[in-house]
Amino acid sequence: MTLADRMNHLGTETAFEVLAKARALEAQGKEIVHLEIGEPDFDTPRHIVEAGIQALQDGQTHYGPTPGIPQLREAIARNSREVRGIDTDPAHVVVTPGAKPIMFYVILALAEPGVEVIYPNPGFPIYESMIRFSGATPVPMRLIEEKGYHPDLDDLASKITGKTRLIILNSPENPCGSALTREEMETIANLVKQRDDLYVMADEIYKDILYTGEHHSIAAFPDMSRRTIILDGFSKSYAMTGWRLGYGIMPPELVPHITRLAVNSVSCAATFSQFAAIAALDGPQDDVQAMAQEFSQRRRLITDGLRSIDGINCPEPEGAFYAFPSIRETGLSSSEFEERALSEAGVAILSGSAFGEYGEGYVRLSYANSQENIAKAVESLRKFVGSL
Ligand code: PLP
Repeated sequence: MTLADRMNHLGTETAFEVLAKARALEAQGKEIVHLEIGEPDFDTPRHIVEAGIQALQDGQTHYGPTPGIPQLREAIARNSREVRGIDTDPAHVVVTPGAKPIMFYVILALAEPGVEVIYPNPGFPIYESMIRFSGATPVPMRLIEEKGYHPDLDDLASKITGKTRLIILNSPENPCGSALTREEMETIANLVKQRDDLYVMADEIYKDILYTGEHHSIAAFPDMSRRTIILDGFSKSYAMTGWRLGYGIMPPELVPHITRLAVNSVSCAATFSQFAAIAALDGPQDDVQAMAQEFSQRRRLITDGLRSIDGINCPEPEGAFYAFPSIRETGLSSSEFEERALSEAGVAILSGSAFGEYGEGYVRLSYANSQENIAKAVESLRKFVGSL
C-alpha cells in the first residue's frame, strides 16, 4: 500500500501498546500492576451517570450542533468565569469528543511549514506528533529535573522567533507532574505579548488535580484571553474518559475554523454525554475533591517508595497523577527499564523516551491505581532494581 507522505510524520502514544503487552502477559497467568495508563481508576460520579441516562431516555440520541449544545457551551463559559477568572462567553467555546481533537484542530489551524511551535519536552506525545504532521517545526521547551521539571524561561525567551506562532503549555504536566507558578505564567504571558500573531494553547486538563497552591490560567492575565486557546475536558476531573468529552475556549474569530475542522471530521460530540457534562459542571464538586485527595495520598506513597529505592531519584509531583523518576543510575535505558519492569517485576510503566528526546533516562508511573497496588509495585521494583 502506498501511504500519503504525511503519515510518515505522525507519531503515537505508547500507553496503549504497553497496556496490550501487559494484558497478553496476564492472559498467560502473570500478575501485573498497571501503572501505564493515564486515566482515573474511579467510576464517573453517580449524579453525572444519571444525567446521561436521563438524556438517553429523553431521546437525546441525535446529532447536535457542531460546536456543542448551547446549554453546555453556556455552562462551560460560566464555569470558566468562576474557576479561571476569565471574561468569556459561549461564543468562545467549542465542544469536542474528548479534548484531544482540540489539540489536533488548533495545531492544524495554526501550524504549517515555515512556522515554529514550542512545546514541553518531556511532554504529551501528541503535541510533537501533531506539530510534525502539520509540517511545522517542533521546538522543544525542555523541562528540567533539577528545577522540579519547570522550564528555564530565559531559554524559552531565546526560542521565540519571528516564526513562532504557537506555544503549548501543559500545567499540571503529563508526564512530569510539574505545575507552572503564577510568576512563571506571568513571565510567559509577557513574552507572548511582545509579538503579534503568537498564541498559547494552554492544556489545563489536569487543573483539578493540583497539590501545591492554586491553578492559574494564562488566559486570565491582562490581554491574554485573545491570544490563548484553553484546552480542557471531563476525562480527568470527572473520571469520564469513556464519555469522550472535551472543549476549547478560544478567541471567537478562531471558533468558525475549529468548528469547520470538527464538521469535516466528527460532526459533533455525543449529545447525551454533553447533558451529563452539564451535570458535572453545575452539580456538587465533592467527588472531584475526594478524587484529588486520594491522588494526593497515592502521590506520597509512590514518591516516598520510589525515593527509598537505591538508583532511583523522584522529584515531587505538584499535580496530575504521574511520577517521573530518573532511572539513569540503574544503567538501563528508559525503554529497557520499561520492558524489564514489565517482564521481570510485573509492573507496567512507560519509558520516558515516549514523551520526547528529553525523556530519556526517566520512566513514567501513573498512580491512578489503588494504594495497595502502588505499594506492591514499589516493592517489586525495589527487588528488580536491586537485582541489576
Ligand atoms: N492533554 C493531556 C496532557 C493528556 O494527558 C490527555 C489524556 O491523556 C489529554 C489532553 C486528552 O484527554 P481526552 O481526549 O481524554 O479529553
